Amino acid sequence: MRNLYIHVPFCAGKCDYCAFYSEPAPDTALIRLWLDRILSQLEENATRLKDAETVYFGGGTPSLLPDDVLKRLFAAVREAVPNAVEISIEANPFTVTPEKAAVLTSFPNRVTLGIQSFEPALLDAIGRRAHAGPDPEEAVRNLRDAGLRNLGLDLMYALPGETSDLWRRDLEHAIELNPEHISAYSVTPEPGTPFARMVAGRPEDDALSEAMWEQSGLILGEARLPRYEISNYARPGFESRHNSNVWYGQTYLGLGPAACSFDGTDRWTQVSDLRAWLDGTPPEIDRIPRRARLGEVLMMGLRTIRGWTRCEFEVATGTNWDDFSAQLNELAEHGLVTQTEDTIMPTERGLAFWNDIAESLVFAP
Ligand code: SF4
Repeated sequence: MRNLYIHVPFCAGKCDYCAFYSEPAPDTALIRLWLDRILSQLEENATRLKDAETVYFGGGTPSLLPDDVLKRLFAAVREAVPNAVEISIEANPFTVTPEKAAVLTSFPNRVTLGIQSFEPALLDAIGRRAHAGPDPEEAVRNLRDAGLRNLGLDLMYALPGETSDLWRRDLEHAIELNPEHISAYSVTPEPGTPFARMVAGRPEDDALSEAMWEQSGLILGEARLPRYEISNYARPGFESRHNSNVWYGQTYLGLGPAACSFDGTDRWTQVSDLRAWLDGTPPEIDRIPRRARLGEVLMMGLRTIRGWTRCEFEVATGTNWDDFSAQLNELAEHGLVTQTEDTIMPTERGLAFWNDIAESLVFAP
């Protein structure tokens, strides 16, 4: 397994738009049960993980874990994955005190802060609750003072009531914090969330969302944070290696409830329920037919600006993309990709309408 993901399923409260699996306000006993099981799974998978090159602690809110839990977790991962070059952890600004920043940078070399928006009214509109603690500026200062050299900020746009001017303000605010990486996703009404119920029946303004996506590319590009994937922007050399590896079809092992894994052939997902996961409920295995798997790998690489070279695709899948030539030619005719004998790249339009690329390649007969 080339990449390790650990899902930390705890949050201070539940945001109204969130469809990720997490337990709000967990008690310490539950956190320790989760840790014990993760530690034993790391031991069980030590042989598979020894050559992994990235680790990603996601959630939930990993930075909510008590310091002693984080330290034990980091020590175990350090031992299981001795060759990792990129170790990322997600953090919520309100948790990042100077003491927490010291722990968060003691093993991870990349921290991403979930900001979403700097405008309190917009955060209210999506039900992202405020908590006492450092604000984003203070969290960034604490992380930089602790020596962090690779900082990511996560933002959201097309929030209810948001205008292009407000989105510009959020982007400019983020740029002022001088991050190495920015992710910016449009808010999505995920089925079953309070946010989806709240906006049900309201027409979606696709044109505004598309305009904000274009605005992001322009403003962040001018700030020397060029787009390298549909929703991701980075200083050259600071692109997320973990995510890039996953987009380019590499294997990954996911530990923790709701975590997904892929071994190059099958994909499996752990149960989205902490207690059931602790009780040993087996994961759901998704055996993907070969052609669909190749289509998936091909389309995921086309989320990135640089797309695929023929050689990279062959190394990733052990085959070539000629089986998809009819679909690729059609995508090229519609201006969604450009091709040469040895490369395929999405066009700007292809990135904006990536769902059409995905549909064409994954559901190809
Ligand atoms: S903090 Fe993140 S993971 Fe937790 S509920 Fe909010 S959006 Fe979901």
